[in-house]
Amino acid sequence: MNRRRRVLMTCLVTLMAACALQPVPAQEMDPVQAMSMPFEELAAARGVDAGQLAAEMGLPADADLSAPTGQLLKASGLALPDVQRAVQSLRAAAAEMGDATGAGPAVPDALAEEAEGKDWMRIRIKFLLWVAVFVGALVLLMRTKVSPRLRVAMLVAAPLIFGVWLGVEPNAPGTVKDAIMLYASTGVVFMPRLIAFAAFLVMSIIGNKVFCGWGCQFGTLQDLVWHLPTRKWKPPFWLSGIVRAGFFAAFTVVAFTVGTDIMEPIDPFRIFRLGAVAAVAVAAVMLIAGVWIYRPWCSFFCPFGLVSWLGERIALTKPRVNLDTCIDCLRCERECPNWSIKGLRRREPLPQDCFACGTCIRVCPVNAIRWGVKPPPSDAAEE
Ligand code: SF4
Ligand code: SF4
Repeated sequence: MNRRRRVLMTCLVTLMAACALQPVPAQEMDPVQAMSMPFEELAAARGVDAGQLAAEMGLPADADLSAPTGQLLKASGLALPDVQRAVQSLRAAAAEMGDATGAGPAVPDALAEEAEGKDWMRIRIKFLLWVAVFVGALVLLMRTKVSPRLRVAMLVAAPLIFGVWLGVEPNAPGTVKDAIMLYASTGVVFMPRLIAFAAFLVMSIIGNKVFCGWGCQFGTLQDLVWHLPTRKWKPPFWLSGIVRAGFFAAFTVVAFTVGTDIMEPIDPFRIFRLGAVAAVAVAAVMLIAGVWIYRPWCSFFCPFGLVSWLGERIALTKPRVNLDTCIDCLRCERECPNWSIKGLRRREPLPQDCFACGTCIRVCPVNAIRWGVKPPPSDAAEE
């Protein structure tokens, strides 16, 4: 094993160990999670009997209480706030009965707990750091200062900082997925999530997917494993693009028709919480595949990857190629981890996602590529 491989392996093992030691938050109940939970589990989590809760809400007597909450609510024309009201009503009744019921003190409202349970200070720190990383990466890209060593250092640091230390939430795909899911199942828009989504998207439009390339906790982890020196395979973009769009469409249709979140159980970002075996298994599959294929989750499944790929059409700064000075050596196309520079260089209408790695800019022998709002001047080739 050569030195580079040893260093990478050490970094990966350290990251995995750090993930494994990450404590599972004791109380984390998201509205979207609540909607995909079996109704009886939701009732138990709120400290009330599922049968009583169903009766209080006026659900049919033969309703299957093991079905996902969202599904039951949709079938009865109800929404999550109705659950909340019914729980409060049951608690009030229990409180009236007092000690005679043995119910004890009322359990705090779970939805209020969800909002209170969020560590807003941690979220603010995370966004401040994300913005700092975004600005730093953008400056480095625009000044053509991204060295392989710096890039790998950031790929080690980003999952540690934004995943292991600052946790799974928030994350960019979660803002898309959860916003759709919540709206589909309750008609509610959770404004902080929308603001977070807007922040991710604005960053991605100012600097073409710089957030994904440098700050996303799972995106950077996949990028890190891709650096392990093996033969690589670049799947055709038509394939990854169709799978990603199809997965997003299926998720949206199921969310609006059945009220179930099909992405949540396999969300690989939960590797940073080790909260779900299926999700960890999916993350492991993605990371193993990611040794040969560049960012498989981003390319094939990520909802934010899809949305920000659309945003790339209007991105302000991105790799720009001066075709007058380009000598057609195709080095950038060979070194680019996917097909993005091929599409950008050949002025294709829908090039693949560029993850702002900076490689094409670094390897061009005649400085015909730069990160900016326009291509480098022709005299840049002489620098
Ligand atoms: S595309 Fe990849 S890097 Fe971007 S948000 Fe999705 S998982 Fe993260
Ligand atoms: S090498 Fe490819 S992914 Fe990296 S910056 Fe260039 S176009 Fe983007």
